[in-house]
Amino acid sequence: MAEDLQGRRVASTATRRSGVEELNPFKNAQEQLDTAAKILKLDPGTHAILREPMRELRLSVPVKMDDGSVKVFKGFRVQYNNARGPCKGGIRYHPNETIDTIRALSAWMTWKCAVVDIPLGGSKGGIICNPKEMSPGELERLSRKYIELIYPVIGPEKDIPAPDVYTTPQMMAWMMDEFSKIRGYYCPGVITGKPLEAGGSLGRGDSTAVGGLYTVREAAKHLKIDLKKAAIAVQGYGNAGTFAAIIGKRMFGSRIIAVTDSKGGIYNADGIDPDRALAHKKKTGSVVNFPGTKPISNEDVLELDADILIPSALENVITRKNASKIKAKIMAELANGPTTPEADEVLYKNGVFVVPDFLCNAGGVTVSYFEWVQNMTGDQWSEEEVYSRLDRKMTKSFKDVLDTSLKFKVNMRVAAYIVAVKRVADAMKLRGWV
Ligand code: GLU
Repeated sequence: MAEDLQGRRVASTATRRSGVEELNPFKNAQEQLDTAAKILKLDPGTHAILREPMRELRLSVPVKMDDGSVKVFKGFRVQYNNARGPCKGGIRYHPNETIDTIRALSAWMTWKCAVVDIPLGGSKGGIICNPKEMSPGELERLSRKYIELIYPVIGPEKDIPAPDVYTTPQMMAWMMDEFSKIRGYYCPGVITGKPLEAGGSLGRGDSTAVGGLYTVREAAKHLKIDLKKAAIAVQGYGNAGTFAAIIGKRMFGSRIIAVTDSKGGIYNADGIDPDRALAHKKKTGSVVNFPGTKPISNEDVLELDADILIPSALENVITRKNASKIKAKIMAELANGPTTPEADEVLYKNGVFVVPDFLCNAGGVTVSYFEWVQNMTGDQWSEEEVYSRLDRKMTKSFKDVLDTSLKFKVNMRVAAYIVAVKRVADAMKLRGWV
């Protein structure tokens, strides 16, 4: 077995051949690319470029802690490909972060921007830390130091970070401020996902969920599912999952039968009020013990008798172990990388319609792109304008992917890869890289 940067053992392709499921997200991202490359008959040079990140930065980020000690955190910024425009991708603060996860996420950002046809490339960053155990002051110093260290490779025309798992609009404001201080003038276009009052865009906060729900609406139309009667289960009650439950209920009139967070979950077949579940989480730190519900685990929520399943937490939660137990008609992946390639095959065989991650959750980066356009032109768009542009982008991308899936007789993930990889490969060819 190979080891990641924290010395944890991860399965390699060789171990997969010997029967162990591959759980290294980057290996899985490469395998997904290989499938599309074969169908597209990509030339070996183009394929080789697209299999690896263009640039990787590894950092040691020193932070003065509140008790006076200095702690050094490991951090990364991976720029995968910029053939279609400046790199774009969020920053994660997570105790289990690894370079391979960031590599995979930077690849998925490349395909994500391409599938929704916005003129940006892909990147991702991360710091190994537990933000839940850090004070606001420590998080501010960590965020500022990280920007100081990646300053040479980021900028509005080079690479534009954004929020991701456990990073917030407030952190984006600190990061934008740090970059602007070093540059010597206000540079809102360097970071997206900022608070509205600090150069953010209307509609960015719930854009990942809203974009995903537009794709659910289109999938339901295709499958002739009445969303008014549908039951929705959501794994993960962070930014994406919370808005998916709240807005899903409002937009479609569907029933939210279960939601979970990192501490556990709640279930009620008759429906849960997602706004009140959020208020409970804000008060107690978790949705667990919300009155009128039964407890449910993060594993069991995936296997519920729901029409729509929305994994909105972390990668590798649907594997060959549980894929055959998924009963949902539509699985809308708001998380990045929740499904392994082996699980994908099972889901496809069982007729679960998967809206794949980098299509389903592309609403976030799409509104990030709108934010960047507003920052670069000094413009401000209304919420209505943001949502109607987002709807057009998501609906068109869903159609592009669905048409490709029907044309090539492949599942929606392979179809999304075909659309995205072709766009990036075409740009590389036209720019003379291959
Ligand atoms: N972190 C989000 C994602 O994975 C948003 C990225 C962005 O807005 O640049 O899509």
